[in-house]
Amino acid sequence: MLLNVQDIEIAYDRIKVLWGVTLCVGEGEIVSLLGANGAGKSTLLKGIMGIVPLQRGSISFLEKDVSKKHPWKKAKMGIAYIPEGGRVFPDLTVEENLMLIASLHKEAFDVKENLDLVYSLFPVLKERLQQKAGTLSGGERQMLAIGRALMSKPKLLLIDEVSMGLMPKLVSEVFNTLSLLKEYGISILLTEQNVPEALAISDRGYVLENGRITISGNSEELLGNEMVKMSFLGL
Ligand code: ATP
Repeated sequence: MLLNVQDIEIAYDRIKVLWGVTLCVGEGEIVSLLGANGAGKSTLLKGIMGIVPLQRGSISFLEKDVSKKHPWKKAKMGIAYIPEGGRVFPDLTVEENLMLIASLHKEAFDVKENLDLVYSLFPVLKERLQQKAGTLSGGERQMLAIGRALMSKPKLLLIDEVSMGLMPKLVSEVFNTLSLLKEYGISILLTEQNVPEALAISDRGYVLENGRITISGNSEELLGNEMVKMSFLGL
């Protein structure tokens, strides 16, 4: 397994928001994390990245215990985290946003190879290299956020609500691109409100309710699940 999350609990102050969550992501898998607002999806991704501490439980990545590792260490090991809204540096150009991450990781890999991958996935970024990121459209900004994450050549992408605020056409485009990343050996754990689109590109998924995983299965099983149909598919 690439990522193994075992029985983790996370609290803000004394209010617990994740209760004994266990999940895994295999090599080359796309896994969706579904749940209503406030279920704890973002917290789970932050916990995996090490942005919020675990109260109990453990996380292993590539068979190594990373439960207490700093986010920076995890990034070096191959985990990239894209927060909700992408959060690119608005005053830097597209090129500077991409190169900044590359410069932080420079010893590890080939910048040109990574840039070529980013430009082939998102040709629009190549056309806008000198444009300030803050002036990009929502969709372009999200592509830049994904592109920036790819500059560190991650093995696992953690993506929070990639489709947030995007027009339906762009949502399909971004999801299509994510599905291509598999071919490059990149695994993805994503949270998403847009359930049909997310499950269409996912191998498996988990449903998080009030901080607990209540349903898990492959995408077909989830699409056929009565609770998923009622809560997320409006059926
Ligand atoms: P959404 O889709 O609305 O972002 P979510 O499933 O990602 O929801 P989280 O953002 O993880 O859920 O929030 C889970 C719970 O933790 C919520 O009750 C939220 O109010 C609470 N919470 C999140 N961040 C903090 C924080 N920094 N301090 C205190 N409570 C927080």
